[in-house]
Amino acid sequence: MYEHASRVMNIGLIEVMLKEEIFQLNVDEILKQSQDNAAKIIFICSPNNPTGNLMDENDIENILNNFDGLVVIDEAYQDFAENKSWTNRLDEFENLVVINTFSKAWGMADARLGNAVCK
Ligand SMILES: *Cc1c(COP(=O)(O)O)cnc(C)c1O
Repeated sequence: MYEHASRVMNIGLIEVMLKEEIFQLNVDEILKQSQDNAAKIIFICSPNNPTGNLMDENDIENILNNFDGLVVIDEAYQDFAENKSWTNRLDEFENLVVINTFSKAWGMADARLGNAVCK
């Protein structure tokens, strides 16, 4: 979806694949690519779609602490997860944005409604 949106908006997009087998973030590659390409936003889907796993909290903290732009955590599937939402950490990170949707747990995809929260 981010690829589609960036193409429609004519915005550059860099994809960094998750690590094989464990489906976790490749933090070094994300930070390198974002620096080399002067990225402004990093999108992280956690819990991830379609693998369903949570991204490692330390990895996300590492990115939040070492990237100058916005770090957007897509929590579309947060209601099905055991962990606390990243909205509980907004006070700690000025560059953290958490987005959610009414399409999944609320079953309201027709409403085309979502939200973004940040400090
Ligand atoms: C479904 C979904 C969304 C949001 O979908 P909308 O219906 O456009 O609100 C966002 N991110 C992920 C990972 C999703 O699975």
